Parts: sequence; structure tokens; C-alpha cells
Amino acid sequence: MEGFAMAKSFSYRFYHSRDWEQARELALQRDAYLCQHCLKAGITTPATMVHHIIELTPANITDPNIATDPRNLVSLCDLCHKKVHGWARQGSTRHGFAFDEDGNLISLTNENTD
Ligand SMILES: [Zn+2]
Ligand SMILES: [Zn+2]
Repeated sequence: MEGFAMAKSFSYRFYHSRDWEQARELALQRDAYLCQHCLKAGITTPATMVHHIIELTPANITDPNIATDPRNLVSLCDLCHKKVHGWARQGSTRHGFAFDEDGNLISLTNENTD
């Protein structure tokens, strides 16, 4: 068997697990199936997915405090999710930020004040 070492395959099994199905559903119910970022801006948008605030990695995907803890989950719409990951404006990141090879926005400095 070849071709089993794809970079993102670590999360495939998790995203098809019953644990994730349940955690995702609970997060959506808690958030009333609304995008929480839009809601903060006073806009009501149906959530289309549940995002991990602390991104999943091969090291933490089996940690229930990260992978399925409601405190690490937030319901978002597609656009807000792309913004969170920095996909919407590739190539025009703010100063001091860049994209890693998975398309995640990463800070190049330690100047974060929030
Ligand atoms: Zn949104
Ligand atoms: Zn995400």
C-alpha cells in the first residue's frame, strides 16, 4: 500500500468519528446554529461549520480537551471561517503575519496585544 502519508490525513478519521459528530452538534446547538463572529457584529448568519479555536494537530487530536471540548469550538459561517484561517485575503496579510503551508495565518512577531 502506497500513498498513505498525505499531510492532512491525520484528521480524516476524527472528522468522521461519532465523538466529533456529537461535539459538533452540541456546539451548534449552544450557538443556536448562528455564526458567532457575525453575531458579535450584530449580523445574524447561519453557521455552516464548527471551528477549532486551538487548531487540531497530530499531537492534540486525541486530546478531548482540545478536539471535542465545547470551549474550544465555535460555530462560524463559511466567510468568517475563511477569515479566521486567513484564506479570504491570501497575499495581503497584515504586517507581521504570513501563511504557513496549510494556509493558516501565523504571526511572525510577538507583538500581539490582544
Ligand atoms: Zn460569519
Ligand atoms: Zn477552522
